[in-house]
Amino acid sequence: MSLPITMKAAVLYGPNDMRLIDAYPVPEPGPGEVIIKVVACAICGTDPDILARGWPNHPPYGEFVFGHEYSGTIAALGPGVTEFEIGERVVVEPHKGCGMCENCRDGLYTTCLNYGSLEKGHRHYGFTTNGGYAEYARIHNICVYKIPGEMSFEDATLITTAGTSLYAIRRAGGFEGGETVVVAGPGPIGLMGVVLARLMGAGTIILIGTRPERLELGLKLGADVAIDLTQENVVERVLALTSGHGADMVLECAGTAQSAADAVEFTKKSGRIAFVGVHSKSPIVPLNARKITLGNLTIAGVRAEGQRSVARALTVLSQNKVDITSLITHTFALGDIHRAFETAEKRLENAIKVVVKP
Ligand SMILES: [Zn+2]
Ligand SMILES: [Zn+2]
Repeated sequence: MSLPITMKAAVLYGPNDMRLIDAYPVPEPGPGEVIIKVVACAICGTDPDILARGWPNHPPYGEFVFGHEYSGTIAALGPGVTEFEIGERVVVEPHKGCGMCENCRDGLYTTCLNYGSLEKGHRHYGFTTNGGYAEYARIHNICVYKIPGEMSFEDATLITTAGTSLYAIRRAGGFEGGETVVVAGPGPIGLMGVVLARLMGAGTIILIGTRPERLELGLKLGADVAIDLTQENVVERVLALTSGHGADMVLECAGTAQSAADAVEFTKKSGRIAFVGVHSKSPIVPLNARKITLGNLTIAGVRAEGQRSVARALTVLSQNKVDITSLITHTFALGDIHRAFETAEKRLENAIKVVVKP
């Protein structure tokens, strides 16, 4: 199969200047790389930031194609790639570490010490290297996974989200079967955290948020209790639900100061908290440090989907019948990408995950 010379792509020309280009050059695969014919690319929470402000070390404006949660079929193989065949259904994860630094060698490639360095082999697809809002995308084969069984291309775009939720559970030290898990913030990563915690044998799962329709969805996806923080005292309620002891594990996915502070208060002594939500507005947050120390708490930061979490999330989700499709609320053609972004960013019509299809 030979590749066309040009393709349709959404190209960033500057802050808030994304243009649909009809004849953007189709990339060619280098050693170890593949070209994917993109079928679906989901909009991530960081994408509106990239649209508005770019990203450190992003490709030059006028050439920058972003989008990093995409699936499709293998369209071309670079030299040395024996892991895939033309036409295979695949999905990607966006982080490729340099493979050489101390963190990469420990599997912690989302915190590669050579982040952004193309010379060192680091790639962050859709951020520092081109991504998937285009008909074709080039990516290193170690970031590519076969889509299992009957999972749809659209569902597969959620796998980086799921990988992040799974990595959060791992980073904080995991949970035992039957333990209480609190998920604060019913965004895509939080809701996927509910799904995975349920499938992995959590006991009571408590979801905290503000939007009734998202809390409702969380209950359908496996949460036992939903707390609307605009209506109830969250700390008191979680303590009441846990015999006054607090939760064993908390996935803090809201990224707000209050949510972070509350998490420390309603975590059990010797419990674990994963900080997944990105605190972009006010990152300096007062936490009850006395409780953290005397309560023997573990707090883990979580950057994206490290330690092959995507591979395991794919397996967990493909082997269980769970309706993750309900997280995808909107689908747009690539030609409607501006409307897709508006829908995702303003959460129009209760948008959760918005997928763009080239
Ligand atoms: Zn993302
Ligand atoms: Zn590295």
